[in-house]
Amino acid sequence: MGRTVLIVEDHEFNMMLLDDLLRANGYDTLQAADGAAAMALAREHRPDLIVLDIQLPRVSGLDFLRWLKRDAHLRDVPVIAVTAFAMPGDEHVMRAAGCADYIAKPISTRHFLDVVRRHAAPVGDGQAP
Ligand code: MN
Repeated sequence: MGRTVLIVEDHEFNMMLLDDLLRANGYDTLQAADGAAAMALAREHRPDLIVLDIQLPRVSGLDFLRWLKRDAHLRDVPVIAVTAFAMPGDEHVMRAAGCADYIAKPISTRHFLDVVRRHAAPVGDGQAP
């Protein structure tokens, strides 16, 4: 069983890049384009990690993060927030709401994978099964 990462991203091209990158590095992925779909998938699968775009339609990444933290079954799933439009204070707000890490786009592949591995080490990486 591999590690499963839920990608929450509304831009198709970014979704494809993140999905390819994670799969190429041994992760299984789930995809959601908005907060409601993401919450449904999170409840169904309890992923090992969530990569969360902050700028989402309807429900913002911040609101999604708050939903997640109110759910006893999901609140310990680490969330990496990613943003294309980093505003001063965004990182503080997202971290205060409970995200485990924060990355501003454009994403450096190497940095992104380092952060992902920090929160969801690949299976067979010295981890107990
Ligand atoms: Mn977006």
